Amino acid sequence: METDCINKNNAGMKNITGRIKMDKFEEKMDKLSSEGLSDSEIGEKLLDEMGDLCICPDCPMYNQCAQEKYEGLYCILGKSQCNLEEDDCICPECEVAENMELKNDLFCLNGSEKELRES
Ligand code: SF4
Ligand code: SF4
Repeated sequence: METDCINKNNAGMKNITGRIKMDKFEEKMDKLSSEGLSDSEIGEKLLDEMGDLCICPDCPMYNQCAQEKYEGLYCILGKSQCNLEEDDCICPECEVAENMELKNDLFCLNGSEKELRES
């Protein structure tokens, strides 16, 4: 089910020099892409870097199926393969969301931050 995002306004802001100012998520993805990594390689790298910070397992939506599949970091890896029942998403309380300046949530149902910014 599609739900409202926290903020879908992802247009880069121009700074005083007229250059597009990227937020931390854009900077990170830009850097990894410039290293020639594919989307799946970027996912693996970020899973290594940030997987332990993901608090999805504490979320009321995270069920036994998600646990058995070792799912998480949906903000990077995209939707869950499990049938999750919508409830309150705790992504806004997560360090990854803060560190990466994520603009969306409910990634397990709606897809990754990248997909949501591009939609
Ligand atoms: S923002 Fe949400 S999906 Fe991403 S790591 Fe944090 S809790 Fe997990
Ligand atoms: S993405 Fe958000 S709603 Fe989904 S399991 Fe993680 S914290 Fe819960």
